[in-house]
Amino acid sequence: MARIPLVAGNWKMNFDHLEATYFVQRLAWTLRDARFDFRRCEVALMPAFTALRSVQVLVEADDLRIRYGAQSVSVTSQGAFTGDVSADMLSKLGCRYVIVGHSERRKYHPEDDANIVDQVRAVLAAGMQPILCVGESFEERRQGIELEFAVGQVHDVTRDLSDEDVARLIVAYEPVWAIGTGMVATPDSAQQAARAIREAVHAQFGPRMAGAMRILYGGSVNSRNAQQLLRGADVDGFLVGGASLDVDEFAKICRLA
Ligand code: PEP
Repeated sequence: MARIPLVAGNWKMNFDHLEATYFVQRLAWTLRDARFDFRRCEVALMPAFTALRSVQVLVEADDLRIRYGAQSVSVTSQGAFTGDVSADMLSKLGCRYVIVGHSERRKYHPEDDANIVDQVRAVLAAGMQPILCVGESFEERRQGIELEFAVGQVHDVTRDLSDEDVARLIVAYEPVWAIGTGMVATPDSAQQAARAIREAVHAQFGPRMAGAMRILYGGSVNSRNAQQLLRGADVDGFLVGGASLDVDEFAKICRLA
């Protein structure tokens, strides 16, 4: 089954709403000038919460094909949860995607496996698509258990999901040691991990779900390594951190995908 690649930019805690709208405008112009075909590759940006409304207004006013989403979400739907943002609020802002389980959230916030499962459920219930981040630390790689580890993280989330939910899940294989370090996985190891994840989904949900699921690679992706990484038959695009903060660099990665 043909899967449309997705290149998603994770801006983390960068860009206020003015910088965000300026970036989106410049990206739209750059891709338009390059005659970028949005039917062949989806492009998404994940701004901070404070910029989402401005990005929404711009995307709707100029009828842009760029998608956007959030970097995390509350597991509760409303109430006395100071500082939290619900899935429903994000969906009403036109978010299509929500990153769930990013290693920085797992590290700096109390987001454990149970919380990540609940976030995925909240995102799906609100009609959006979770981008579930999985991947081993340097220690797991040293022990040679990186594939089992990533597959296990996916399994923890998918085991109680319906076929319909799994069909909307996107997985980002992001080895923790590669995030923001300049150390990128080899194309072979990115492909091996993506393949292992797809095979596990195949075993659990069958060929249709496994064939439809988009599996991204993330970790120090840039315009120089993107093409090689995409040679992996099971790698369907990227979750890009640092390189998504530069319009020209990000646009180049989109064009390579
Ligand atoms: C990320 O944070 O999801 C990421 C992949 O970061 P970077 O591209 O900077 O390694």
